[in-house]
Amino acid sequence: MTPPADYHLHTPLCRHAEGSPEQMVAAARAAGLVEMGISDHSPMREAFDDWRMDWAEFPAYCEWVERARAAGGASLPVRLGLEVDYLEGGEAWIEELAAAAEFDYLIGSVHYLDESWAVDDPRLVDRIGALGVEETWDRYWALFTKAIRSGFFDFVGHPDLVKKFGHWPTGDLRRYYEPAIEALVEGQVAFEINTAGWHKDCAEAYPARGFLELAAEAGVGLVISSDAHRPGEVARDFDRARRLAAECGFQETLRFERRAGRAVPL
Ligand code: ZN
Ligand code: FE
Ligand code: FE
Ligand code: ZN
Repeated sequence: MTPPADYHLHTPLCRHAEGSPEQMVAAARAAGLVEMGISDHSPMREAFDDWRMDWAEFPAYCEWVERARAAGGASLPVRLGLEVDYLEGGEAWIEELAAAAEFDYLIGSVHYLDESWAVDDPRLVDRIGALGVEETWDRYWALFTKAIRSGFFDFVGHPDLVKKFGHWPTGDLRRYYEPAIEALVEGQVAFEINTAGWHKDCAEAYPARGFLELAAEAGVGLVISSDAHRPGEVARDFDRARRLAAECGFQETLRFERRAGRAVPL
């Protein structure tokens, strides 16, 4: 049995995470991981919000990952990733970012439904009610599907993040999942089970079981992630996520190196 790699790990450079490179690596070892990756929130070209590194700090980010690599050594390879915010019209910047370092993978995430509204920001949760849950979901999934089709990403993060605070539209939610999964298949893009969802108001992993079953059936690539913002969260709930993935029909997870994926048994 090969434990999945945890590729969705943050650093204090994003201003809302803690832990040194050595502490993150030690936590990964303690959790029994044999591979990990750092993927902090992507910088924007200009000042944007208060939960990401500045573009000027990007070299410090690469040094942070180098320190983690030194700590991991040959027994625990540390990959270089980035959790890239996909924004409408932001393609040129993402292209520049993708060329800024020798990345092993890029995660595509949708947090912002427009320049001033991150759908996962608890301070802005009222906007979901104001716009309506159905409309918020429509917008979120349209942008998420666009992110997949952009072709920039190796896998996409927390597919149904829009449910974070416990808002679900009525009816069969496969109407949202299906176009995204079709885009994943066509673009050969993978997605993650993000275990952080179990610790939010929605109290389920991202994405929901219904999405997982369809994605497994369609043969989409899978990664399991903790989205840890501190050492104690590395590989959190991985056993539970592996059981869930297996129940839904997955048999493999992916490893990434230099933007190429390779499957290992779940
Ligand atoms: Zn974060
Ligand atoms: Fe995220
Ligand atoms: Fe994250
Ligand atoms: Zn995230």
